[in-house]
Amino acid sequence: MKCVVCKGPAIIDIRRHNANFCTDHFLEQCRRQVAKAIDEFAMIERGERALVAVSGGKDSLAVWDLLVELGYDVDGLYVGLGIGEYSDVSGTYARDFARSRELTLLEVDLPGTYGYDIPTGSRAARRAPCSACGLSKRHLFDAAALEGGYDVLVTGHNLDDEAAVLMGNTLHWHTEYLGRQLPVLPARDGFPRKVKPLVRLGERETAAYCVVRGIDYLVDECPMAAGNRHLSYKAALNDIELASPGAKHAFYFGFLDRAAERFATEAEADREDLRPCASCGAPTTSEVCAFCRLVQRAGGSLPDGGPTAVAVELGPTRARVDEPSALEGVR
Ligand code: SF4
Ligand SMILES: [Zn+2]
Ligand SMILES: [Zn+2]
Repeated sequence: MKCVVCKGPAIIDIRRHNANFCTDHFLEQCRRQVAKAIDEFAMIERGERALVAVSGGKDSLAVWDLLVELGYDVDGLYVGLGIGEYSDVSGTYARDFARSRELTLLEVDLPGTYGYDIPTGSRAARRAPCSACGLSKRHLFDAAALEGGYDVLVTGHNLDDEAAVLMGNTLHWHTEYLGRQLPVLPARDGFPRKVKPLVRLGERETAAYCVVRGIDYLVDECPMAAGNRHLSYKAALNDIELASPGAKHAFYFGFLDRAAERFATEAEADREDLRPCASCGAPTTSEVCAFCRLVQRAGGSLPDGGPTAVAVELGPTRARVDEPSALEGVR
């Protein structure tokens, strides 16, 4: 197997590009794909400050590393979800990465600040764990980006993620979600700009990127993900990709080119009634936003009591990894 660029020994084959790459040219390929996505969708301007949502997994650490390599000014944000050992370990990977590269990592601890963790909080609020988790993360990421004065919030969604979400939204014809499933959502109505620079890279490529770059990441899936429909869509798409390399790319980018705009009106209608939450000020369509309602129901649900549900205003606990003492007591 030879590198398509230099004919040296290849370390990876990427069937949808019908190409093999050596270490150096694979890294170059990853950077080129990210740079292309950023340019194509006008994701981040030079000189802007970006905040990347970091989970300790391969995608979020890869996108942080790639953006830094491409010369962008990027800090990280880690949200401790209180999912047992999984959260303890994921936080360690996020901190170790930031420390090794002298990058700034902000932290929000959900149990410590809001009085619930995902397993007990979702039960108390009668929501599926991933629903409570997704809602909490979205709110805390948005709040931290706005409060920290960042121009843009970055997530590590890759091509496999986006194709799987698209499949789910299409199977169930969630047309208002289809109208919003874009690699960049502009800042508006009190939401920060949100971008997904990894949309041109597959999951296998982000994993390989981390290995080649010596980035240690949490390999284990979140224990709450078992039975998640998203995983079954991914598996189905992997089967299709095997028989038809490039199918995921064609599905997702074909949607962006030829279909997404057709659903824009419905996505827009969904956001027409946005107003500030009476409790925290975040944009919402109801009197009190879904996050504050979750905190009211789930806060204080920890077995040892935890803080009560009073901390609903925007105000995440933060720490910088370049200030080791600040980390004490954060997790
Ligand atoms: S799998 Fe569900 S609970 Fe686990 S981190 Fe993802 S969204 Fe949260
Ligand atoms: Zn090469
Ligand atoms: Zn609120």
